[in-house]
Amino acid sequence: MDCPKCRQDSLAEFGQVEGVEIDFCSRCKGIWFDAGELAFYVETAEDVPDMQAAIGAGRPSGLVCPRCSHELVETHYVPDEPLLIDVCPACQGIFLDKGEVPRIESLAARHGGLERVVATVRSLERKGYVILGGNISK
Ligand SMILES: [Zn+2]
Ligand SMILES: [Zn+2]
Repeated sequence: MDCPKCRQDSLAEFGQVEGVEIDFCSRCKGIWFDAGELAFYVETAEDVPDMQAAIGAGRPSGLVCPRCSHELVETHYVPDEPLLIDVCPACQGIFLDKGEVPRIESLAARHGGLERVVATVRSLERKGYVILGGNISK
């Protein structure tokens, strides 16, 4: 497959890594994840915590999806975090540059936990409890 960054046929199946068949670029060391694979790889519920919002907020990246030839959009993995990823709005595949996988893993661990805490606090607030006296999502 053509690597979105290198624009040549340098993206190839690398074999199974942690149970996921990943496509790896031998030139730029980027990794392509088909829809569902990133979540499996980093052990989160979803590839991106809010995929629809991420695609909606995305900007044209000038990169082409190796699977379906749509233009990828550049977007934040989670809002308010500097980490940018390239997502295909059509097939929802994700291209990660070299070094982004560990950053996703640490963000996913942090935000996965945070989302659960926020959800718990919100549901308690709806029931009339006031906790911590502030806005936990900041
Ligand atoms: Zn490449
Ligand atoms: Zn695609």
